[in-house]
Amino acid sequence: MKPEEVERFTCVFPGSSLKFVVFNIFPGSELQRMGKGQGILFVISAPSGAGKTTLLGKVMKQAAGLSFSVSHTTRPPRSNEQDGKDYHFVSREAFQKMIEGEEFIEWAEVLGNRYGTARCNFQKLHSQEIDILLDIDTQGARKIKEKTESAVFIFVLPPSPEALRERLLRRGLDSSETIERRLANAWREMKEAVWYDYVIVNEEVEEAVEQLKAIILVERSRKHRTSILQEKLKQWEGSHGENHS
Ligand code: 5GP
Repeated sequence: MKPEEVERFTCVFPGSSLKFVVFNIFPGSELQRMGKGQGILFVISAPSGAGKTTLLGKVMKQAAGLSFSVSHTTRPPRSNEQDGKDYHFVSREAFQKMIEGEEFIEWAEVLGNRYGTARCNFQKLHSQEIDILLDIDTQGARKIKEKTESAVFIFVLPPSPEALRERLLRRGLDSSETIERRLANAWREMKEAVWYDYVIVNEEVEEAVEQLKAIILVERSRKHRTSILQEKLKQWEGSHGENHS
């Protein structure tokens, strides 16, 4: 099934404006939301090479009402990446201007590059009944945790240090020096996993996909997140309530 375009909107930043397209609503697919309610914010972190991108790509194709927040970064695009889809690739100067204009809900420096979640993009999505998936590092996740109690924090772990090194080597994107930095950073990040709500060990990607879908389903079913109980009670009240009270 192809992603359906839901909405286009433009965010105006000082000196520039960016067009956003909300995709990834899959009507009729599994994991539909029940009832009405404010969108849920799912924050996912993982050390680089833990397989998070593949995992998220698969889940995005299967979960209805879930939108991916496209971050801004000063990192140059990789050969398989598309501007506006994977990231908004911007210069360090443009990023700095956005920091000064308080355009980010959070931002962080990871291995020499800057990454940030644009406030405008985020608010626009959050005000609708769309759940948002933020793929951000642990520094950014901490900032979100300080701002909102209601976000759901999920940490994706690689099965072992050896498996992570192997994956980073196989990916062929980094020099051996960068791989060592990524491994050291992975260890730093993994120690942060203790305060996340859920942990997924990505040994078999299909199992990890099922686990992440289960988390989404469970969080969507929580009573305080959905109006479904009120709707059902009203429905029952209308047809039976008076006769059985
Ligand atoms: P990569 O360069 O491998 O795409 O991403 C490096 C790290 O930056 C990953 O841990 C990713 O989750 C994180 N990252 C991506 N976007 C953001 C963002 O908007 N904010 C923060 N804090 N981290 C991000």
